Amino acid sequence: MKILVLNAGSSSQKSCLYEITGETIPSIAPQALWFAKVDWTHHQGFAEIEVKTVAGGMLQKEVSASSRSAVISDLLDTLTQGSTKVINDFSEIDVVGHRIVHGGRDYRQSVIITEEVKQAISQLSSLAPAHNPANLEGIEAIEQVLGSVKQVAVFDTAFHSQIPDAAAIYPGSYDWVEQGIRRYGFHGISHQYCAQRAASILGKDLNEVRLITCHLGNGCSLAAIQNGHSIDTTMGFTPLDGLMMGSRSGAVDPGILIHLLRQPGYTVEKLDNLLNKESGLLGISGESGDVRGVMQAISQGKERAQLAWDIYVHRLRSYIGAMLASLGGLDALVFTAGVGENSAEIRQAACESFAFLGLKLDLEKNIRKPVDMDIATPDSKVRVLVIHTQEDWAIGCECWRLLQH
Ligand code: ADP
Repeated sequence: MKILVLNAGSSSQKSCLYEITGETIPSIAPQALWFAKVDWTHHQGFAEIEVKTVAGGMLQKEVSASSRSAVISDLLDTLTQGSTKVINDFSEIDVVGHRIVHGGRDYRQSVIITEEVKQAISQLSSLAPAHNPANLEGIEAIEQVLGSVKQVAVFDTAFHSQIPDAAAIYPGSYDWVEQGIRRYGFHGISHQYCAQRAASILGKDLNEVRLITCHLGNGCSLAAIQNGHSIDTTMGFTPLDGLMMGSRSGAVDPGILIHLLRQPGYTVEKLDNLLNKESGLLGISGESGDVRGVMQAISQGKERAQLAWDIYVHRLRSYIGAMLASLGGLDALVFTAGVGENSAEIRQAACESFAFLGLKLDLEKNIRKPVDMDIATPDSKVRVLVIHTQEDWAIGCECWRLLQH
């Protein structure tokens, strides 16, 4: 079975073509036959396309970005043409899977895309304006190029859909509950993949382990996982809640927002931009939203960079503590995504606070670029895992699973 995965973000899109040949799904992600990335941020009006294949084919080009569907069409052509050709014809593709950021309250599992599902994704755009419209455009572009191929929606909110009301409902007006204003949580595909992989590394049934997964990338969120489900998470109604992030603030006193909006000339757009693009590590350090940039600035003695680091670590520890309380115990703390997988310093700083639980990090293993590995000491009471998140593969697995029925 050949599965095409489209993982569309607001400014970039990753795509993969997987092939599953056996009767069962491999437990470890195979290498994609074809991998492509589109970046819309390079030049206004243009998109940068980068394609690699398992056989070593490579292509990099800039295309006119008149519409997302035109760019996707150009991208798909690289599957059947030139040095990146991996299939003869689009009819070889059995199914296309899409990451859909917001599935609201109704979509708690992956589904085959129908007109009704498309309408729901469109209606949920008001809750995820930077993502759901892009996801929908991806679905429509595939319809144009591949015709009636089966398409599957895999929702980033689905894994969190069983969070109990006490953790999901904000203590504002009860009208909010009726309007659907509640904690949805995000990065669900990554948290779920990491939970399953963690259980397999630990050699245990997923239903038997209590986990905290720390997805620390540009966006950051934690999930508390029990009986195979997320029971609490740090992102909320939007991906702005919770931890300090690269350029997003995370949770702040809502009174600050009221205070700012009362200042003459202050606008909602300005506040939106500030909280999403000019805050977090970037806002505090004034140097970079990238942990590496912040560390470099610290080594040059820049005090604001040190402050940004200290706040990031403080908040990470506090929220791990909050997830711990929701779980009432912990079998493994899992680190994933750009920062979680690569920053030994952040992992060490986060773990130090939990030594009182008997959590002991093996400092040697921690700095050895661990991938899908347990980095706790043998006598640690809590395991510490570093897992390379594989969202695209997780979407591919959902497609495979749905097509078996
Ligand atoms: P996204 O959330 O956009 O999917 P990633 O998961 O790829 O992002 O994470 C990107 C972030 O990972 C970068 O902004 C950077 O802060 C961090 N990162 C990547 N490599 C390293 C590294 N070696 N050390 C520390 N941080 C890193």
